[in-house]
Amino acid sequence: MIEITQLKFDYPKSDFRLRIDGLTIQEGEKVAIVGPSGSGKTTLLNLIAGITATDSGKIKVGQFEVSKLDDSARRDFRSSQIGMVFQQFELIEYLSVLENILLPFLVNQSMQLSQDVKQRAESAARSMGLGDKLRRKSRRLSQGEQQRVAICRALVNEPKLILADEPTGNLDPKNKRLSLDLLFEYCDQHRATLVVVTHDTTVLDGFERTIDFETLVAMKDS
Ligand code: ADP
Ligand code: MG
Repeated sequence: MIEITQLKFDYPKSDFRLRIDGLTIQEGEKVAIVGPSGSGKTTLLNLIAGITATDSGKIKVGQFEVSKLDDSARRDFRSSQIGMVFQQFELIEYLSVLENILLPFLVNQSMQLSQDVKQRAESAARSMGLGDKLRRKSRRLSQGEQQRVAICRALVNEPKLILADEPTGNLDPKNKRLSLDLLFEYCDQHRATLVVVTHDTTVLDGFERTIDFETLVAMKDS
């Protein structure tokens, strides 16, 4: 599902450099990538999702060679193929729970907001215990509730690949488990691939593979 080779990425005007010689993740795998804060985990997810463009090397997701797509093709790729759970949730605080879940469809003209999609969003919200809060503005939600909305939103386009950035950050143990179980359940039902990046080693139960981010990145002088 994911194939990375000879990846190089530098932020302009920053010392940070990401180098990954090789990483392969199979379709349907549930993988946790564990590393300390500041090591480049969010950067890696943004590159895989096509939010950021690579400097050189290859990133392939399914049949898409993300590293070869231009900006607009990467946007289409991301909205149609990827479910992204952002580290800071990225909810719009003046929109309701339901509107936040449907956001990809509201901002993307190529995505058709059908009755079917609305029903899927409502049923995802209900299964996450948000059924009675569909019309509540997201600024009036607890952290755990916001995290669950962010997860519902990542699933609403029925992606084959879910990239989740610290999806258990700032959550109590009960909400941590709930959030991960929801992701696992979705992946089992849809044969989807799950990549979670985290610095939290207490949440690794249930993943098929754990990758140590620091052994993955090859810091080279070149
Ligand atoms: P992690 O998610 O593992 O905490 P990040 O990928 O967010 O790490 O960041 C890796 C490094 O890149 C950090 O040193 C961070 O300060 C730097 N960084 C992140 N985003 C930018 C940016 N937009 N411009 C410059 N440097 C950045
Ligand atoms: Mg991060």
